[in-house]
Amino acid sequence: MNKIIIVTGASRGIGREIAKTLAREGNIVIANYNKSEQLAIELKEELQKENIKIDIFKADVSNRKEAKILVEFVLNKYKRIDVLINNAGIAQSKLFTDFTDEDWNKIINTNLYSAFCMTQEVLPNMIHNKSGNIINISSVHGIVGASCETVYAISKAGMDAMTKSLAKELGPSNIRVNSIAPGLIDTDMNKNLTENDLKILKEEIPLGKVGKVTDIAKCVKWLVEDEFTTGQIISLNGGWTII
Ligand code: NAP
Repeated sequence: MNKIIIVTGASRGIGREIAKTLAREGNIVIANYNKSEQLAIELKEELQKENIKIDIFKADVSNRKEAKILVEFVLNKYKRIDVLINNAGIAQSKLFTDFTDEDWNKIINTNLYSAFCMTQEVLPNMIHNKSGNIINISSVHGIVGASCETVYAISKAGMDAMTKSLAKELGPSNIRVNSIAPGLIDTDMNKNLTENDLKILKEEIPLGKVGKVTDIAKCVKWLVEDEFTTGQIISLNGGWTII
Protein backbone atom coordinates (compact mmCIF):
# COMPACT_ATOMS: atom_id res chain seq x y z
CA MET A 1 0.00 0.00 0.00
CA ASN A 2 3.04 2.25 0.51
CA LYS A 3 1.33 4.81 2.73
CA ILE A 4 3.06 6.85 5.42
CA ILE A 5 1.21 6.01 8.64
CA ILE A 6 1.65 7.21 12.23
CA VAL A 7 0.26 4.95 14.96
CA THR A 8 0.28 6.46 18.45
CA GLY A 9 0.67 4.14 21.44
CA ALA A 10 2.07 1.29 19.36
CA SER A 11 4.38 -0.35 21.90
CA ARG A 12 1.68 -2.62 23.30
CA GLY A 13 -1.82 -3.98 22.76
CA ILE A 14 -4.04 -2.75 19.94
CA GLY A 15 -1.61 -0.14 18.60
CA ARG A 16 1.22 -2.65 18.35
CA GLU A 17 -0.94 -5.05 16.31
CA ILE A 18 -2.14 -2.20 14.06
CA ALA A 19 1.47 -1.17 13.42
CA LYS A 20 2.52 -4.76 12.60
CA THR A 21 -0.44 -5.39 10.30
CA LEU A 22 0.02 -2.17 8.33
CA ALA A 23 3.80 -2.61 8.07
CA ARG A 24 3.31 -6.16 6.75
CA GLU A 25 1.00 -4.70 4.08
CA GLY A 26 3.91 -2.66 2.72
CA ASN A 27 3.23 0.66 4.41
CA ILE A 28 5.81 2.86 6.08
CA VAL A 29 4.78 2.83 9.71
CA ILE A 30 5.96 5.15 12.45
CA ALA A 31 5.19 3.39 15.72
CA ASN A 32 4.99 5.85 18.60
CA TYR A 33 5.57 4.78 22.18
CA ASN A 34 6.00 6.57 25.48
CA LYS A 35 7.18 4.44 28.41
CA SER A 36 7.62 0.96 26.92
CA GLU A 37 10.89 1.51 25.04
CA GLN A 38 12.05 -2.12 25.26
CA LEU A 39 8.78 -3.37 23.78
CA ALA A 40 9.06 -0.85 20.95
CA ILE A 41 12.60 -2.04 20.20
CA GLU A 42 11.35 -5.66 20.19
CA LEU A 43 8.59 -4.69 17.75
CA LYS A 44 11.19 -3.21 15.40
CA GLU A 45 13.39 -6.31 15.74
CA GLU A 46 10.48 -8.70 15.20
CA LEU A 47 9.63 -7.00 11.90
CA GLN A 48 13.30 -6.74 10.89
CA LYS A 49 13.44 -10.55 10.97
CA GLU A 50 10.73 -10.47 8.27
CA ASN A 51 12.75 -7.85 6.32
CA ILE A 52 10.21 -5.19 7.19
CA LYS A 53 11.36 -1.75 8.33
CA ILE A 54 9.46 0.26 10.90
CA ASP A 55 10.33 3.52 12.67
CA ILE A 56 9.83 3.68 16.40
CA PHE A 57 9.58 7.11 18.01
CA LYS A 58 9.30 8.07 21.66
CA ALA A 59 6.84 10.85 22.42
CA ASP A 60 4.28 11.55 25.11
CA VAL A 61 1.49 12.52 22.73
CA SER A 62 -0.46 14.19 25.52
CA ASN A 63 2.24 16.86 25.42
CA ARG A 64 1.89 19.35 22.54
CA LYS A 65 5.66 19.84 22.12
CA GLU A 66 6.33 16.11 21.91
CA ALA A 67 3.43 15.54 19.49
CA LYS A 68 4.88 18.32 17.32
CA ILE A 69 8.37 16.77 17.38
CA LEU A 70 6.95 13.38 16.37
CA VAL A 71 5.15 14.88 13.36
CA GLU A 72 8.22 16.96 12.40
CA PHE A 73 10.34 13.79 12.47
CA VAL A 74 7.95 12.08 10.05
CA LEU A 75 7.67 15.07 7.72
CA ASN A 76 11.45 15.59 7.64
CA LYS A 77 12.03 11.93 6.80
CA TYR A 78 9.11 11.12 4.48
CA LYS A 79 7.74 14.54 3.41
CA ARG A 80 4.10 13.48 3.79
CA ILE A 81 1.64 11.81 6.14
CA ASP A 82 -1.17 9.73 4.65
CA VAL A 83 -2.77 8.23 7.74
CA LEU A 84 -2.86 9.15 11.44
CA ILE A 85 -4.12 6.58 13.91
CA ASN A 86 -4.90 8.11 17.30
CA ASN A 87 -4.69 5.02 19.47
CA ALA A 88 -2.73 5.99 22.63
CA GLY A 89 -4.92 5.74 25.66
CA ILE A 90 -5.30 4.95 29.33
CA ALA A 91 -8.22 3.83 31.47
CA GLN A 92 -9.00 4.41 35.12
CA SER A 93 -11.82 2.98 37.19
CA LYS A 94 -13.22 4.87 40.19
CA LEU A 95 -16.45 6.14 41.64
CA PHE A 96 -17.26 9.46 39.99
CA THR A 97 -16.99 11.27 43.33
CA ASP A 98 -13.45 9.93 43.84
CA PHE A 99 -11.96 11.28 40.59
CA THR A 100 -9.49 14.09 41.24
CA ASP A 101 -8.55 16.97 38.98
CA GLU A 102 -5.23 15.18 38.39
CA ASP A 103 -7.09 12.04 37.24
CA TRP A 104 -9.26 14.13 34.94
CA ASN A 105 -6.27 15.92 33.41
CA LYS A 106 -4.30 12.71 32.92
CA ILE A 107 -7.15 10.79 31.25
CA ILE A 108 -8.48 13.65 29.13
CA ASN A 109 -4.99 14.72 28.07
CA THR A 110 -3.86 11.21 27.18
CA ASN A 111 -7.01 10.07 25.38
CA LEU A 112 -8.48 13.24 23.90
CA TYR A 113 -6.04 16.17 23.96
CA SER A 114 -3.44 13.90 22.34
CA ALA A 115 -5.79 13.31 19.39
CA PHE A 116 -6.49 17.06 19.23
CA CYS A 117 -2.76 17.87 19.14
CA MET A 118 -1.71 15.08 16.77
CA THR A 119 -4.54 15.85 14.35
CA GLN A 120 -3.74 19.57 14.36
CA GLU A 121 -0.07 18.82 13.72
CA VAL A 122 -0.66 16.51 10.72
CA LEU A 123 -3.47 18.50 9.09
CA PRO A 124 -1.49 21.22 7.30
CA ASN A 125 0.35 18.52 5.34
CA MET A 126 -2.85 16.54 4.62
CA ILE A 127 -4.74 19.67 3.56
CA HIS A 128 -1.84 20.66 1.30
CA ASN A 129 -1.89 17.16 -0.25
CA LYS A 130 -5.71 17.23 -0.54
CA SER A 131 -5.58 13.72 0.87
CA GLY A 132 -5.64 12.24 4.34
CA ASN A 133 -7.11 9.63 6.63
CA ILE A 134 -7.55 9.91 10.39
CA ILE A 135 -8.63 6.92 12.45
CA ASN A 136 -9.52 7.44 16.11
CA ILE A 137 -9.61 4.45 18.42
CA SER A 138 -12.42 5.40 20.79
CA SER A 139 -14.50 2.92 22.84
CA VAL A 140 -17.90 1.36 23.33
CA HIS A 141 -17.91 3.23 26.65
CA GLY A 142 -18.02 6.56 24.84
CA ILE A 143 -21.22 5.44 23.13
CA VAL A 144 -23.17 3.85 25.98
CA GLY A 145 -21.35 5.15 29.10
CA ALA A 146 -19.64 3.07 31.76
CA SER A 147 -20.23 2.99 35.49
CA CYS A 148 -17.03 3.94 37.37
CA GLU A 149 -15.30 4.90 34.12
CA THR A 150 -17.02 8.23 33.57
CA VAL A 151 -13.92 10.25 32.75
CA TYR A 152 -12.68 7.60 30.32
CA ALA A 153 -16.15 7.50 28.71
CA ILE A 154 -16.16 11.31 28.41
CA SER A 155 -12.76 11.24 26.71
CA LYS A 156 -13.94 8.65 24.18
CA ALA A 157 -17.28 10.39 23.52
CA GLY A 158 -15.25 13.54 22.88
CA MET A 159 -13.14 11.64 20.39
CA ASP A 160 -16.25 10.45 18.54
CA ALA A 161 -17.61 14.03 18.44
CA MET A 162 -14.27 15.12 17.00
CA THR A 163 -14.56 12.39 14.37
CA LYS A 164 -18.02 13.49 13.22
CA SER A 165 -17.23 17.22 13.27
CA LEU A 166 -13.91 16.88 11.45
CA ALA A 167 -15.41 14.54 8.85
CA LYS A 168 -17.78 17.37 7.94
CA GLU A 169 -15.08 20.06 8.05
CA LEU A 170 -12.42 18.11 6.18
CA GLY A 171 -14.46 16.15 3.63
CA PRO A 172 -14.04 18.93 1.04
CA SER A 173 -10.25 18.57 1.48
CA ASN A 174 -10.54 14.83 0.74
CA ILE A 175 -9.63 13.93 4.31
CA ARG A 176 -11.61 11.12 5.91
CA VAL A 177 -12.10 10.82 9.66
CA ASN A 178 -13.55 7.75 11.38
CA SER A 179 -13.62 6.14 14.81
CA ILE A 180 -13.32 2.50 15.66
CA ALA A 181 -15.05 1.93 19.00
CA PRO A 182 -13.80 -1.40 20.38
CA GLY A 183 -15.63 -3.42 22.99
CA LEU A 184 -13.74 -5.69 25.35
CA ILE A 185 -10.35 -6.55 23.81
CA ASP A 186 -7.71 -8.79 25.35
CA THR A 187 -4.87 -6.38 26.24
CA ASP A 188 -3.02 -5.06 29.31
CA MET A 189 -5.83 -2.53 29.72
CA ASN A 190 -8.07 -5.34 31.00
CA LYS A 191 -5.51 -7.34 32.95
CA ASN A 192 -7.17 -6.37 36.25
CA LEU A 193 -10.32 -8.34 35.30
CA THR A 194 -10.75 -11.63 37.16
CA GLU A 195 -11.85 -14.89 35.51
CA ASN A 196 -15.25 -14.33 37.07
CA ASP A 197 -15.46 -10.74 35.73
CA LEU A 198 -14.65 -12.08 32.26
CA LYS A 199 -17.26 -14.83 32.55
CA ILE A 200 -19.95 -12.28 33.46
CA LEU A 201 -18.89 -9.91 30.67
CA LYS A 202 -18.86 -12.68 28.06
CA GLU A 203 -22.42 -13.55 29.01
CA GLU A 204 -23.42 -9.98 28.06
CA ILE A 205 -21.77 -10.23 24.63
CA PRO A 206 -23.91 -11.97 21.97
CA LEU A 207 -20.85 -13.54 20.33
CA GLY A 208 -19.83 -14.75 23.80
CA LYS A 209 -16.17 -13.85 23.55
CA VAL A 210 -13.57 -11.19 24.18
CA GLY A 211 -12.10 -9.52 21.08
CA LYS A 212 -8.50 -9.89 19.93
CA VAL A 213 -6.13 -7.13 18.89
CA THR A 214 -6.22 -8.66 15.40
CA ASP A 215 -9.97 -7.95 15.20
CA ILE A 216 -9.25 -4.22 15.53
CA ALA A 217 -6.20 -4.28 13.25
CA LYS A 218 -8.22 -5.92 10.44
CA CYS A 219 -10.79 -3.12 10.60
CA VAL A 220 -8.05 -0.47 10.59
CA LYS A 221 -6.50 -2.11 7.51
CA TRP A 222 -9.87 -1.91 5.77
CA LEU A 223 -10.31 1.77 6.72
CA VAL A 224 -6.81 2.53 5.42
CA GLU A 225 -7.73 1.05 2.04
CA ASP A 226 -11.32 2.35 1.84
CA GLU A 227 -12.05 5.63 0.05
CA PHE A 228 -15.72 6.44 0.76
CA THR A 229 -16.27 6.04 4.51
CA THR A 230 -16.13 9.12 6.70
CA GLY A 231 -17.67 10.41 9.93
CA GLN A 232 -18.52 6.90 11.14
CA ILE A 233 -18.20 5.34 14.58
CA ILE A 234 -17.60 1.67 13.88
CA SER A 235 -18.64 -0.52 16.82
CA LEU A 236 -16.39 -3.58 17.02
CA ASN A 237 -17.65 -5.38 20.07
CA GLY A 238 -19.15 -8.79 19.34
CA GLY A 239 -22.62 -7.29 19.52
CA TRP A 240 -22.15 -6.09 23.10
CA THR A 241 -24.05 -2.94 22.12
CA ILE A 242 -26.44 -2.96 19.21
CA ILE A 243 -28.09 0.43 18.72
P1 NAP B 1 -2.69 -0.92 26.37
O1 NAP B 1 -2.39 -2.34 26.03
O2 NAP B 1 -2.69 -0.47 27.77
O3 NAP B 1 -1.68 0.00 25.50
C1 NAP B 1 -1.78 1.38 25.59
C2 NAP B 1 -0.78 2.00 24.65
O4 NAP B 1 -0.93 3.43 24.72
C3 NAP B 1 0.65 1.67 24.99
O5 NAP B 1 1.38 1.39 23.82
C4 NAP B 1 1.16 2.95 25.66
O6 NAP B 1 2.54 3.21 25.41
C5 NAP B 1 0.35 3.99 24.90
N1 NAP B 1 0.29 5.28 25.60
C6 NAP B 1 -0.33 5.57 26.76
N2 NAP B 1 -0.14 6.85 27.08
C7 NAP B 1 0.62 7.39 26.09
C8 NAP B 1 1.16 8.67 25.84
N3 NAP B 1 0.96 9.70 26.70
N4 NAP B 1 1.89 8.88 24.71
C9 NAP B 1 2.10 7.85 23.85
N5 NAP B 1 1.63 6.62 24.04
C10 NAP B 1 0.90 6.39 25.14
O7 NAP B 1 -4.12 -0.50 25.80
P2 NAP B 1 -4.97 -1.06 24.57
O8 NAP B 1 -6.01 -1.93 25.10
O9 NAP B 1 -4.09 -1.52 23.49
O10 NAP B 1 -5.68 0.32 24.14
C11 NAP B 1 -5.39 1.01 22.94
C12 NAP B 1 -6.54 1.97 22.67
O11 NAP B 1 -7.75 1.21 22.52
C13 NAP B 1 -6.79 2.94 23.83
O12 NAP B 1 -7.09 4.22 23.33
C14 NAP B 1 -7.99 2.33 24.53
O13 NAP B 1 -8.74 3.30 25.22
C15 NAP B 1 -8.74 1.74 23.37
N6 NAP B 1 -9.68 0.70 23.76
C16 NAP B 1 -9.24 -0.47 24.34
C17 NAP B 1 -10.17 -1.44 24.72
C18 NAP B 1 -9.79 -2.74 25.35
O14 NAP B 1 -10.69 -3.49 25.80
N7 NAP B 1 -8.51 -3.08 25.42
C19 NAP B 1 -11.54 -1.20 24.51
C20 NAP B 1 -11.94 -0.01 23.93
C21 NAP B 1 -11.00 0.93 23.55
P3 NAP B 1 3.71 3.03 26.51
O15 NAP B 1 3.47 1.74 27.23
O16 NAP B 1 4.95 3.03 25.66
O17 NAP B 1 3.65 4.23 27.42
